Amino acid sequence: MRKAGSVALAVVCSLASAAFAGTGTRTVQRELDEALAGTNAVAVVLDGGDGRMIAAVRGEHAGQDASAPGSTLKPLFLAAALRQGRVRAGTTVVCRGDLHIAGRDLACTHPRDETVLDAERALAYSCNAWFASLATRFAPREAAAVLREYGLGSRTGLIAGESAGEVRTARSEDEVQLMVLGLEDVEVTPVQLARAYLRLSGELEAEPVLRRGLEGSVAYGMAHNAATAGVEIAGKTGTASDAGGAWTHGWFAGIAEHGAERVVVTIFVPRGNGADAAALAHRFFAEWGRVAG
Ligand SMILES: [Zn+2]
Repeated sequence: MRKAGSVALAVVCSLASAAFAGTGTRTVQRELDEALAGTNAVAVVLDGGDGRMIAAVRGEHAGQDASAPGSTLKPLFLAAALRQGRVRAGTTVVCRGDLHIAGRDLACTHPRDETVLDAERALAYSCNAWFASLATRFAPREAAAVLREYGLGSRTGLIAGESAGEVRTARSEDEVQLMVLGLEDVEVTPVQLARAYLRLSGELEAEPVLRRGLEGSVAYGMAHNAATAGVEIAGKTGTASDAGGAWTHGWFAGIAEHGAERVVVTIFVPRGNGADAAALAHRFFAEWGRVAG
């Protein structure tokens, strides 16, 4: 297994050089390195056009470390539910702020005056009540199938020696809700999540509410730390902890556009939360936005 790990690093390096060749005097790799300097975060950047991995920090971990994805799954389930006719953009849910599922306290953190949410605001504010309600419209096997459709539970082929992550089938309605909230029965690697968002990026035009919700997340919602002047960002944060773990971990996953360039980014903060990951994403977008386009 150690042998596979060293191959992974070699692949990351060669992809970084390939990006250098394609972009002249700058590299996305250097921008990502600078943004994450002094942190223990793991990150992956894919070219939003052809899906190549153009940069990674701690690439071995990006391929091998699978963790609960938290709320980064919400746009995937929303996209599938819209496509399958399970909800509409205008579907509203009343959120009372508190939510308990299987003994877990899943209280929302969005403003309390946002009590009736449609799909856009539920995504922007990462409303657990809205998505727990959405979850009841999926049978356990259907929910697992959504995640597999986005490539979760299987290797991406982008990093050698990577883990396939985990997608299990829930056994009860409570468990489906916890799966949709990214807390149970699903573990993903940073590179898998990037590939899932690459696919999601192709759906933003067909389902405008997805784009509005993810842009709203950065503009006024839970991912606002990622907002960067001059860069269009559709993104989502997640915070979760793994079974038996004392610490939470944080995620940011998103799609950014500047001029003619588009990238898909995931950032994983091993001990932290989604707000921390979004702040690191901002540092990358600020570097990238200065020179992209
Ligand atoms: Zn809520």
